[in-house]
Amino acid sequence: MSRPGKLLSLQGLTVQFGGLTAIKDLSFEVERGTVHALIGPNGAGKSTTFNCISRYYDPTRGSIRFDGADITHRRADEMAAMGVARTFQNLELFNELSVLENVLLGTYSHGARGLRRALKPAVAETREFAEHLLQRVGLIDYRRQPARGLDFGRQKMLELARAMAIRPKLLLLDEPAAGLRNREIDALDNILRELAGEGVTILLVEHVMQLVMSISERITVMSFGEKIAEGSPQEIRSNEKVIEAYLGK
Ligand code: ADP
Ligand code: MG
Repeated sequence: MSRPGKLLSLQGLTVQFGGLTAIKDLSFEVERGTVHALIGPNGAGKSTTFNCISRYYDPTRGSIRFDGADITHRRADEMAAMGVARTFQNLELFNELSVLENVLLGTYSHGARGLRRALKPAVAETREFAEHLLQRVGLIDYRRQPARGLDFGRQKMLELARAMAIRPKLLLLDEPAAGLRNREIDALDNILRELAGEGVTILLVEHVMQLVMSISERITVMSFGEKIAEGSPQEIRSNEKVIEAYLGK
């Protein structure tokens, strides 16, 4: 059920790796049911932000609230059950498993016990749901093939289907359009629109501006670990700081 208000709030988030400050005092909020983009040059701290939200990294300072709860110190393996799914900038698929099995694993992302259960002959309902997701991302005809046999664009779609399989409230997508052809980007655009229409909140890290500008309601711009701007696509497009740091290159 979608309720109005903020689904995700980052407050004063700071991440240090030894002497390097990857994120500095970062605050922003994501409205429920919206597509919110996080953009900025390479090294700006976008993936690190994702790694904090999905709890792979511990922030040095600051807090993260999700769906009314303080999740700053939650365990990473609790996040799927809470409704946070993600894809990775570098693909993280189970290459030897079939396309369908990769999605089935997504439906049971609750630790090792879930993993064994997922690979047993799946209950019909779960299997149907996984197949429905493969249909949506255009991979149904590939369901029995090993994931490693898919071309790059299809592997990215498979990652998306696996993330969708947890029925997330929040979907964190790290450069989903990178390396895709125009036709594939259009398909991705449609899928993300549909998901948002169904009430899934999407936080999107992406360099493909055609996609970012077309589907985002709000954009946060980072540079060298700090937020340098936030606004609608129109405001961001004409923001001098953003053009100088990123878009104008
Ligand atoms: P982006 O995704 O915006 O390109 P990242 O979040 O990947 O940027 O990286 C931000 C900065 O943090 C970079 O300088 C990167 O080298 C550094 N960084 C990211 N992860 C680690 C890590 N695990 N250890 C050390 N430095 C890291
Ligand atoms: Mg990154």
